[in-house]
Amino acid sequence: MPRNILPVKLNEIREGLVSDVLHNGMGVILVDNTYPVKLVDAFLGETIQYQVTQVDRLSAFGQVLQVLKPDSQRIDAQKAYLLTAGVAPYVNLSYDGQLNLKQWQVQKAFAAHSVKVDVAKTIGTDQPTHYRNKTVVPLKYQAGQLVTGFFDRRDKVTLVPMVDYYVNQVQIDAAVGLVRDVLAQFNTPVYDDGTHQGAMRYIMIRRGYYSHELMVVLVSHESELPNEDEIAKEIAQRVPEVTSVILNHNPRSTNQQLTGDNRTLWGQAEIHDTLLGRDFVIGPNSFYQVNPKTTEVLYQLAADVAELKPTDTVIDAYSGIGTIGLTVADKVATVLGVEVVARAVADAQINIANNHITNAQYVTADAPEQMQRWKTEGLKPDVIFVDPPRRGLTTELMDAVVDMQPDRFVYISCNPVTMARDSAYLLAHGYQIKGSVRPLDQFPQTAHIEAVALFIPNDDTSV
Ligand code: SAH
Repeated sequence: MPRNILPVKLNEIREGLVSDVLHNGMGVILVDNTYPVKLVDAFLGETIQYQVTQVDRLSAFGQVLQVLKPDSQRIDAQKAYLLTAGVAPYVNLSYDGQLNLKQWQVQKAFAAHSVKVDVAKTIGTDQPTHYRNKTVVPLKYQAGQLVTGFFDRRDKVTLVPMVDYYVNQVQIDAAVGLVRDVLAQFNTPVYDDGTHQGAMRYIMIRRGYYSHELMVVLVSHESELPNEDEIAKEIAQRVPEVTSVILNHNPRSTNQQLTGDNRTLWGQAEIHDTLLGRDFVIGPNSFYQVNPKTTEVLYQLAADVAELKPTDTVIDAYSGIGTIGLTVADKVATVLGVEVVARAVADAQINIANNHITNAQYVTADAPEQMQRWKTEGLKPDVIFVDPPRRGLTTELMDAVVDMQPDRFVYISCNPVTMARDSAYLLAHGYQIKGSVRPLDQFPQTAHIEAVALFIPNDDTSV
């Protein structure tokens, strides 16, 4: 068949078997064994009747019309709006089904790099809904009403109104609604990215899971909001638990949500929360894991597989505000951290002081460069934790690790695809994986997967 004739037509109705699920959670049906049609809400092994909604040269998109042969774990969560907005692609799988699918996705990633390793069952949570401690919600006047929700994933213009976001702590959903009502009461102008007029762009809420401190951030295109003092007072009065109302000025026309330009309208400039008993300060821009309960499980798991000893020198690379290193500092001799965002390192210093930690030092630097520097200085770490962004590690960083020969290298990953690629490199350079790769579900209802693996040198039999 000539390459320019595509095997599907727009609007055509077809049937097929889902043979893959992509990292973004979309199911794949291969037409003629080669041409992928991608579908939301289509799970492995299901037979689906679908309509073709978009045809491109290399792949197409479809809309599920009917599930002819469902996965035994399929449920009807009655939350179609979450699929429309694309925020919870796995919502129609039972929670056990989600954990199985994530384990399979990690297995698939390692198999693609011919890395033979056991992948443990995904560690789940007893709270697979209403877990997030942060949300950033756009708002828009639709049919004369001020609406909050997320945009339709197809047209990206229509706001899908939401009351129950399903993944946020319930206090956060309630706060979004109350703040929206206050803004509506003051007829606050909303930013229009077509005309570049108006002010309010997003409502951000952060809430400390243990502290119950709640921060409201009004993200505005204008540096001042009309009636901002009255609005802040009204929010302070009406929103339970609020300790902080902040205006974030974002005049940019990109899709960046917040800038670093914050002004406190009422209350404190930041909130606090704890992780494994340590206090952390959280500002509007701080990186802070969004699922507080599973983050504690994740850090505990990372610390357990590292079998920390009181004599250990530990590196915490890609450290954010220092959460991993600072929660293990009392179990080891020294913690050295590296993170590229200066503001996060400044938060780490505050966290070190607030927790009276005396054996930790954090620096602002590119992690691969800093690792090379430490290596050149002759540093001999016993344990290295890495927690890189989705793109994973660089060979520069891994080469420094291989040269420094830590006896325990703990890889915490939010992307099994790059984790598997990096594992293949480490396996080819004198390291082996000890035990299983352990997926952990930080983001129930979504396709995101976290995983932890311990690497040890081939010639080391001591651990
Ligand atoms: N370990 C932290 C943060 C993990 S997120 C936690 O659990 O909260 C990954 C972090 O890597 C982010 O803070 C990001 O700013 C940082 N980062 C990204 N690229 C980096 C680089 N080249 N060097 C150092 N840090 C980097």
